[in-house]
Order: sequence, then structure tokens, then C-alpha cells
Amino acid sequence: MSEQNKTESQNHFDILIIGGGPVGMTAALLMCQQGFKAALFDRLDYKDVLSANYDGRTFAYAYGSKLVLEKAGIWKDLESHAQEIQDIFVTSEGPGEGLHYAAAEIADHPMGFNIETRHFRATVYEALQKQENFHLFAPCDIDEITFHQSHVKVQISGKDSPFTAPLALAADGKNSFIREQVGLKSKTIPYNQKALVFVIDHEKSHNNCAYEHFLKTGPVALLPMKDEFCRRTRCGVIWSLHSDRADDYYALSNSDLETELSRHFSEILGPLSVNGRRWLFPLDVTVVKNYVAPRLVLIGDSAHAIHPVAGQGFNLGLRDVSTLATHLNKAKDLGLDLGSLTLLKDYEKKRRKDILSMTAMCDGLVRLFSNDNKSLGHLRRMGLDLTDKLPMLKKTLTRHAMGL
Ligand SMILES: Cc1cc2nc3c(=O)[nH]c(=O)nc-3n(C[C@H](O)[C@H](O)[C@H](O)COP(=O)(O)OP(=O)(O)OC[C@H]3O[C@@H](n4cnc5c(N)ncnc54)[C@H](O)[C@@H]3O)c2cc1C
Repeated sequence: MSEQNKTESQNHFDILIIGGGPVGMTAALLMCQQGFKAALFDRLDYKDVLSANYDGRTFAYAYGSKLVLEKAGIWKDLESHAQEIQDIFVTSEGPGEGLHYAAAEIADHPMGFNIETRHFRATVYEALQKQENFHLFAPCDIDEITFHQSHVKVQISGKDSPFTAPLALAADGKNSFIREQVGLKSKTIPYNQKALVFVIDHEKSHNNCAYEHFLKTGPVALLPMKDEFCRRTRCGVIWSLHSDRADDYYALSNSDLETELSRHFSEILGPLSVNGRRWLFPLDVTVVKNYVAPRLVLIGDSAHAIHPVAGQGFNLGLRDVSTLATHLNKAKDLGLDLGSLTLLKDYEKKRRKDILSMTAMCDGLVRLFSNDNKSLGHLRRMGLDLTDKLPMLKKTLTRHAMGL
């Protein structure tokens, strides 16, 4: 074999994945586990991505996501970092008892788990290092991605030969440049909100409960976190606020921020204190008409970016990845072309309902709850109280939140 043929063969993959965020990394792992040779490209340096300072969020993993990660063989490494969620309390400003979801009412397992994203990234990265058919190109700049009759081609700066494969996955986030380049239609609507993210320590135990409190200014969520000594006195805060107010709160002193948060939560958690730094994330919703094109699938936020009000964006992305891995594995066994549009359209059909219903639910919640209208305020509280008293509806919503 000539040197050129050798390089071409080395640079030929089954799947090219562009974007190595949580969804792209998990996709790479699942694809390699199905026996595919996969290349993952990200513009960021993994030394930075794996550091605690890169992203201080704690994600809520629905119970269904735990099952996906268990199947991928990484739950055993994540478990020691996972804080179970047994109950979720949803309340609105003003009188009323609100809505209480309890896992124990419908299942013998928790609603889900909270895991700091730094632990998740490190665990998946470690698992990927053990896959012989995995190749990471990061940091790298993608010069060009082109789609051909029989393959897709990626050219990165500083490399002579292009990388080829029958299929590419775009996991390059909500502002996906691949989605734009291919011309897959999408609509992004900003909420004019930012999420202020930080961690608090508090005196009383969180008792494995998550809290979602809808304020006129936007929802604030408290996610129970695992702490070193299992004292259950640490929570991750995601406070969605109008962008200007979020900037103001970001700049508050710790004691002023503690005072603001205590107004809503001191009764439940006792005295609380801010622990460590803060992060800000602009919030919007992106709806994409089609998730596939010839030789391309959009996965994760490139296909659907939603408000974090229900902590479901990554869960949705995980379901993309697990459905796609099974779908492509079947295609491989049948000797089918992985990039054929007919095959990819079948995948799209399988995912559409879940994506659209979750997007609509989160968008509806944000619009209904994030406004000052007084009569709506009354209706909102009535809605929460009523839902709490309708066992069948509550059961359905609980199963939805569990990702089952
Ligand atoms: C405040 C907040 C809290 C949240 N909490 C939860 C939660 O509790 N539970 C939950 O399920 N979801 C949650 N989400 C949603 C979750 O963050 C996203 O759904 C998830 O990060 C999507 O992952 P992704 O890999 O698709 O995209 P991203 O995380 O955006 O990653 C995209 C990757 O692509 C790379 N990239 C982009 N462009 C290029 C390019 N040109 N070349 C190479 N690489 C490129 C980027 O460097 C990045 O690594 C939350 C979101 C927010 C904002």
C-alpha cells in the first residue's frame, strides 16, 4: 500500500462527530461500543474542558438517562458522584401549596440524579480513552465540511489529508455552524433571560428534594448535590432572570445574593451561603424543522435547544444518542449505507415526538410563569394545586420527568 493510500485509509472512519460537548462525547462512546470507528472534533482544548472551572453546572439526569449510562458501562464510575432526587416541589409566588412529585408514589427508584458536569465529562473522557476505535482531534479548527454522493469530508487546519466517513453527526451546540451550512431550517427565539448558576451550602438537609420556585422574574431551581461527607447540605442553584437583572445579580456581593435567595428558601434550608464562583448562560429556544440530511444527523442542542426550567436538555440529547446508536447498529448488521437519507429519516421519525413535546412543555412553562400578569398568577397557582390533586395526570408527568 502506498503512503498516500495508507493515510487515506487511516483517515477514513465510520462516523465523524463534530462537537465534543456532553452529547458529542457520549455519542462517540456509544458508537465506538457498537464497533464503529469514530473521530471526534472539537475546537476546545480538553485540558480546559476537563477543568472544574470550565462549567460549574450540576445536571439533573432523568432516571431513563441513568439506564442509558448504565448500558454504556459508565454508571458505576458516576454513581459515587450522583445525588439521588426522590421528590420535586414546584411552587409559585403567592399563596397555594404547589405541586409535589414523589418518586415513591410510582416507582421503587428515584426520579433521577444530579451530577456535577465536571464529573460527567471526566468519566466519559476516561471511558473514551479505552476505546481503540476512538480518535480525538482537539483543539482543532474545521476549515471545511463537504457532503458528497458516497461520503462526507472534513478538512481541519494544519492537516494535509481530509477525514472521510459515510456519516457525520453535528453535536456542535445550539448555534450549530453545520446546521447553517447545510441549510437545515431552524428558528431561535431568545427569552431575554440568563441563567445565573452557583452553589450554596445550607444548614438544614435537602432530604434528596429538588425545588422549582416560579417567581415573576423567572424560575429558580435548587438541585440537591452530593457533598464530600454526605451531609446533604449543598445545592446547585439555577436562577433564570431577565438578562439585565441576571447581570446585576451576578455582580452582587455574596451576602447580598444570599439575602435575595434566602427570601425564598431560608424556611426550607435554613441559613445559606454562596460557595465558589458564579456562571451566566443566555437562554433561548431553538426549534429545528429537520434533524437529518443526506449523510448528516443533528444531535443534542444542535437539533433542539430548550430552556433549563425542567433540566431536560441533555436528557433529550442522550435519548438522541442512544436511539441513533441502536438504529445505526441495526443498519450495520444489515449491511446498509449509514448515511442514506432513507435510513436517517427513520431515525428522525423516532425522535420527533419526544423532542417536540419536551420543547413545547418547557417553552409553555417559561411563558406561563415568567410574567407579571395578576390573573395569570392566580391561574398558575390554581393549576399547580389542581395538578397535585389529580393522581393520573401527576403520574404521567412524573414518568415524563423520569424520562421513561
Ligand atoms: C443553566 C443550564 C442548566 C442546565 N441544566 C440541565 C440539566 O439539569 N439537565 C439537562 O438534561 N440539561 C440541562 N441543560 C441543558 C444542557 O446544558 C444542554 O442540553 C447540553 O449541554 C447540550 O450538549 P451538546 O453537547 O449538544 O452541546 P454543547 O454543550 O453546546 O457542546 C457543543 C460542543 O461543540 C463544540 N463546537 C461548537 N462549534 C464548533 C466548531 N465549529 N468546531 C468544533 N467544535 C465546535 C463546542 O466547543 C462544544 O464542546 C442546562 C442548560 C443550561 C444553560
